[in-house]
Amino acid sequence: MTEEKKPTRKKIMATKVMRKIMADYFYELDSASKSTDKKVAWCSSVGPAEILRALGFYVYFPENHAAMLGATRMATDMIPYANAIGYSPDICSYLTSDIGAYLKKVTPLTRAYEGIEGLPEPDVLVFNTNQCRDIQDWFGWYAKEFNVPLMGIHTHRGIKDVTEAHVPSIARQMEEMIRPLEKISGNSFEMSELNRVLSLSRECSNLWKKVLDTAAAVPSPITFFDGTIHMGPAVVLRGTQQAVDYYRELLAELEERIKNSEGAVEGERFRLYWEGMPIWGRLRDHSDLFSGQQTCVVASTYCNSWIFSDFAPSDPFNSMAKAYTELFIVRSDETKERYIKQMIEFFKIDGMVYHDAKTCPNNSNNRYGMPQRVEEETGVPSLVINGDLNDLRCLSDEQAKTNIEAFIEQLEENG
Ligand code: SF4
Repeated sequence: MTEEKKPTRKKIMATKVMRKIMADYFYELDSASKSTDKKVAWCSSVGPAEILRALGFYVYFPENHAAMLGATRMATDMIPYANAIGYSPDICSYLTSDIGAYLKKVTPLTRAYEGIEGLPEPDVLVFNTNQCRDIQDWFGWYAKEFNVPLMGIHTHRGIKDVTEAHVPSIARQMEEMIRPLEKISGNSFEMSELNRVLSLSRECSNLWKKVLDTAAAVPSPITFFDGTIHMGPAVVLRGTQQAVDYYRELLAELEERIKNSEGAVEGERFRLYWEGMPIWGRLRDHSDLFSGQQTCVVASTYCNSWIFSDFAPSDPFNSMAKAYTELFIVRSDETKERYIKQMIEFFKIDGMVYHDAKTCPNNSNNRYGMPQRVEEETGVPSLVINGDLNDLRCLSDEQAKTNIEAFIEQLEENG
């Protein structure tokens, strides 16, 4: 084993700008929630945010809030409050920590943003089951709590190829939302506005993809851990000019790094792919652990989840239906494996790390033999880490550290 080095992960200068636009976003939501004429919609992270924005809603994403609970290490203590009202510790810890925090009347927003006292209360909640069933239960609980309408798109799951058997049925569900949403928002739907928002979303998505693709450079100018922070605007501000402007700036910085051969991790020796969700409460520790071994986790499926290459403003409903169904999480193992193999090649991956997140089977892709099959076909070794996105009780830090170090040692021996 090489001696552990002082962790060095190069800071991204654009982070300051991102913090500012995220702050503006939350202050805007807060003021919309306090006003009588502006309406707030809660939306699932890969839900039809573009439709909501086009109707003038201020859009809030509970999953983003749950990730903040995780990253601030508040989540684990909140989970028992949701367990006490019947939500099992075995189900989605985004759901349990978020509902628990609501019951306990705490939110990381009050700590991060002076003057914000609580969540922006919803006028409507809109989900898409393309990712899982938990999202429907989660939003359903809040709909009852706030006594506001709950609307959902019910999507096919485990799809090998996205075909005509899937797209029109989802597009129709999206169209059927317009009339009730018009009533709630008080605004009438304009196709030109949806086209405008979708164009911005598509641009944001293209730029975000370019940002993540810079990691194909050797050394990589960005790590997976940077990606989990900088994906914020792609999640909560897609469909806005601010997100587009931000990713232009970030991309320019990363391209400059490539030009100067500056890696995000000093002395990059190995390049890993992270499959699954981040362990939010351990982002810094994991980043340091890998950097300390001169190993860069260059890419992940997770950060790529906000790339919607099929968005076409000329055919909004069908293209949104297609884009939101083409996502990795919605697909069969056969399709997922094909995708991962492409990523291994594109990002020049030396090893795979699969995160088996105890409470999210939907984002844990190691449970049905995938690591073994991919390893056999590509020769790229893999490691499975047991943990969770938000419930830190599911993680053994010591074991994860030992396993990661042993894995890197194995990569060294493989030469
Ligand atoms: S995909 Fe996983 S983390 Fe996301 S809401 Fe569903 S169960 Fe929770």
